[in-house]
Amino acid sequence: MSWLKYALINVAETCFRMLPIPTRTGLITLGNPGRNSPVILTCNFHLTVVRVKRALRGIDAYLLVANSRGINVWCAATGGLFTNHDVISVLKTSGIEDLVDHRHVILPQLAATGIEGKYVRKKTGWIVQWGPVDIKDLPVYLQQRKKTPAMRQVSFPAEQRFEMAVAWAFPISLVAGLILLPLWRGGILPAVSLTWGLALAIFMTFPLYQQWLNPKSERIGFVLFDFGRGGVQLILLAGIFAGLVVVAKYTGQFSGTFFLRWGIMSTLVVLVLSLDLMGSTPLYKSGLHTDRFLNVALDVNKCKGAGFCEQVCPRNCYDVDHHRHLATQPRADLCVQCGACIVQCPFDALCFESPNGETIAPEMVRKFKLNLLGKRLVKTKDRPGIKQ
Ligand code: SF4
Ligand code: SF4
Repeated sequence: MSWLKYALINVAETCFRMLPIPTRTGLITLGNPGRNSPVILTCNFHLTVVRVKRALRGIDAYLLVANSRGINVWCAATGGLFTNHDVISVLKTSGIEDLVDHRHVILPQLAATGIEGKYVRKKTGWIVQWGPVDIKDLPVYLQQRKKTPAMRQVSFPAEQRFEMAVAWAFPISLVAGLILLPLWRGGILPAVSLTWGLALAIFMTFPLYQQWLNPKSERIGFVLFDFGRGGVQLILLAGIFAGLVVVAKYTGQFSGTFFLRWGIMSTLVVLVLSLDLMGSTPLYKSGLHTDRFLNVALDVNKCKGAGFCEQVCPRNCYDVDHHRHLATQPRADLCVQCGACIVQCPFDALCFESPNGETIAPEMVRKFKLNLLGKRLVKTKDRPGIKQ
């Protein structure tokens, strides 16, 4: 694929990133793979497949594309749309079993919230290895077959923040433009500028305010940025309209046109401020989460030091003491409650625990996925090995 075509695909699909953009599932041959070549599996979000293929240029490998309903790895896996069944299905039906002598398949690390390595192995014989978080690290990972802590950890660099700003601003400004076209043509340019300006400001200044989103001070982040809960948008809109009434009364502009125009602009501002910033990156928890204050509790009596938790944690919360065969959580305060470690632990040594001592068992996390957990906390009766 030429550089120009690659750039155009990136621009177009970033603008429509909020929509599923599926591509064909199945097997793609990269270069001239042999019987020992690596097998890499990804989702069928078109942009992801294009980027993986580009990152693997010059490498002989097999790429399996599994059905994630055209949604990116993180969103599909956490939302229950990229599942064990999808991975098993492509491993069984693509013909890959006849092409290689080994049974190792590399999956994107961010799929670990929704796909259980142990289950896939039991059903297919394939051993799941968790690749790096970022596609660009794939070639180095394939060379070393080892992930550095940096390859395991999610960051939210400027280019990704810009991409997310575009992904939010484009559809909102498009809809705003279409609504304003018959009502107020002169308002289209200010509305579009306002939308893009606000979206860019929110994402590009992220490092300046991210400290307030830190889980430890999350109650502040919750109030300021979590517009998904508590009808904050409605309160904000009500306040703006009350202000408009006062202004209209004192300036003598009390008319339908005045309220229509300023009402549309105000709604737009509230809409852009309501974007799910935390849902735009695995770095922070989504505003959709029901309970924001869960800890991951470790049962030291069950832990065998297998290290799957360390391999899949996007916040690098774990270290594994290989002498004592025990995981530790020295950076537990960075946890974003994604559940990946709980899903992957083969000995069920981890579970979610609330500040009140209620727990969500591993089988619940595996069954309902991150965004679907709801209120499935149960009182902890007797868990003597639990260590916080
Ligand atoms: S918590 Fe589970 S995955 Fe982590 S080291 Fe212990 S046994 Fe292994
Ligand atoms: S420790 Fe927290 S952030 Fe890390 S994998 Fe487990 S739930 Fe996710």
